[in-house]
Amino acid sequence: MQTIAFCDLDDTLFYTGRKLDEALRSSTAALDRIGEAHSFVSRHQAHLLGTLLAGATLIPVTGRDPDAYGRVQMVFDSWAILDHGATVLRPGGLPDRVWQLVMREALEDQEQALRLAAQAAGHISDLMHLGCTVRLHEAGGLPMMVVVKHPYALQNSLDTMSQQWALWRQEAGVGLRFFANGNNLTLIARGVSKEAAVEYVLGQLRDDSEDQELLTLGLGDSLADAPFMNLCDFALTPGDSQLMRGVLENELEQR
Ligand SMILES: [Mg+2]
Repeated sequence: MQTIAFCDLDDTLFYTGRKLDEALRSSTAALDRIGEAHSFVSRHQAHLLGTLLAGATLIPVTGRDPDAYGRVQMVFDSWAILDHGATVLRPGGLPDRVWQLVMREALEDQEQALRLAAQAAGHISDLMHLGCTVRLHEAGGLPMMVVVKHPYALQNSLDTMSQQWALWRQEAGVGLRFFANGNNLTLIARGVSKEAAVEYVLGQLRDDSEDQELLTLGLGDSLADAPFMNLCDFALTPGDSQLMRGVLENELEQR
């Protein structure tokens, strides 16, 4: 049986420097735009990779775009899912053509909504002096999501932005998907998701594996990771992750 591990990267396989004490760092995981160490693998994460996942084929499932993925100092040699699922790389690193066409179709008629959402976020931040940064991200030359951050991860600013942006979406009738984790508020095009891309890659892997059975693991820390982790045989999340907190803080119906 072959083991396939679909792994989120940030906050699952490594942490940014501000979240990980120097004493707990094992190695550098990713560089920033100017080439300096930005994210680190903890000793526990290194051990997880070296033991539990040693025999598995690792497939990154990340919100990182190709540039940011290129700054990750780990070697993945199978498929890779980037841009929250908007980009799928085949083994060898070239974009999957079929997935490109699927995404183009999904993104084409949402360009205007995404541009308006980015403009609205900019206006809200300026008018209310929130000091947030707004970035419209593209995949394959088409806008696919808007990400709002605060340079110092100021929670008050992010909370206000989140509420005001939700009001704007309601009034404007914009049906983009929203999710947030830490210093990121994200609005993403419908049809773009980690789970859609994982489902596609799983289909390809099953076609390629002929008769060999696959054991699939899903690793992630965010609530937005849960749907793709649920496609796998087993799911693994760090303690105190957003996902675990979500489960524990809400009184879930037991039946
Ligand atoms: Mg993550």
